[in-house]
Amino acid sequence: MTAITAIQGEPDPTGSDCVSCGQCCFHGPNTVHLLEPDEARMGEPLLTTWTFLDSRPPRWRFLKNTGERCAALDTTTPGQFPCALYEVRPDDCRIVEPGSPACLEARRLGHLGKSVLFLRVQSSP
Ligand code: SF4
Ligand code: SF4
Repeated sequence: MTAITAIQGEPDPTGSDCVSCGQCCFHGPNTVHLLEPDEARMGEPLLTTWTFLDSRPPRWRFLKNTGERCAALDTTTPGQFPCALYEVRPDDCRIVEPGSPACLEARRLGHLGKSVLFLRVQSSP
């Protein structure tokens, strides 16, 4: 995995550093999956634009990737990494809170690491 420049130190817990960081949004494909509440929050056509259904069982829906980052990470402005889906981003993204172990690992590695634990169970019907 190609890493972007690691960032030293802990971020502001309010998330004010996130747009200038973006490290946790660098990860391999089939990383950020969506459950039913995520799909309902995002709605169409955003689901069509930014997600896909994996053809392999259990056919999870994932965010699309662009290379080694989430496709929804806007990299058009150097040094800025805003999320195109911020208000409706999946719960997997919300789990990585600023200053959490997964956040600090991502900042150290330059990409999301193995410490993040995404829930892999279907929500109740
Ligand atoms: S790694 Fe931490 S500081 Fe950086 S964008 Fe993610 S949550 Fe924010
Ligand atoms: S949806 Fe937004 S917060 Fe989640 S991985 Fe993609 S760019 Fe990052």
